[in-house]
Amino acid sequence: MLEKTIKQVLVTEDEICEKSREIGRILTEEYSDKNPLMVAILKGSVPFFAELTKRIDTHIEMDFMVVSSYHGGTSSSGEVKMVKDLDTSVEGRDIIIVEDIIDTGRTLLYLKQLLLHRKANSVKIVTLVDKPEGRVVEIEADYVGFSLPNEFLVGFGLDYDEHFRNLPYIGILKEEIYQDKD
Ligand code: 5GP
Ligand code: MG
Ligand code: MG
Repeated sequence: MLEKTIKQVLVTEDEICEKSREIGRILTEEYSDKNPLMVAILKGSVPFFAELTKRIDTHIEMDFMVVSSYHGGTSSSGEVKMVKDLDTSVEGRDIIIVEDIIDTGRTLLYLKQLLLHRKANSVKIVTLVDKPEGRVVEIEADYVGFSLPNEFLVGFGLDYDEHFRNLPYIGILKEEIYQDKD
């Protein structure tokens, strides 16, 4: 049913699973004996966070944060707001932030600075998708699943007005889906 709304699939479920295994292997090596705190940025990173953490074969802890920068629709408001903070202290910890996508970079710049200010020992960023053309501030992820063109993407956590997060792949919606909504 949902497939009818998709114009094009850019990244398949198999590709995401394979990439998660690959990044998982790297993190396993890099963080063995560090017990990193893996921070999922809700809600978009949930499917990727689940896929990735299963592939890390060493001790980790998990926590969750909610920040908002998009208020529905397809364009960014520019400001980043903390909606739900971590439960865990980050002081002295090695942090791995897991994001769905980096576009302007504002969300991750804000988060990285916040965690470093709170005296995290290290902060690394893993993102499922990078849209480098969208960048307006200077920040890069340490691990990128897929680098994609500057289009509005949905699926595998990415939403359009809270819908389509449950698609098992990343794609672009047909134009009429936006026309129906607006
Ligand atoms: P930023 O612009 O701060 O790097 O990204 C902020 C947030 O905007 C992302 O975490 C994500 O929730 C949302 N976002 C950016 N690009 C896209 C996109 O192509 N599709 C969807 N669904 N959300 C996006
Ligand atoms: Mg996000
Ligand atoms: Mg969104």
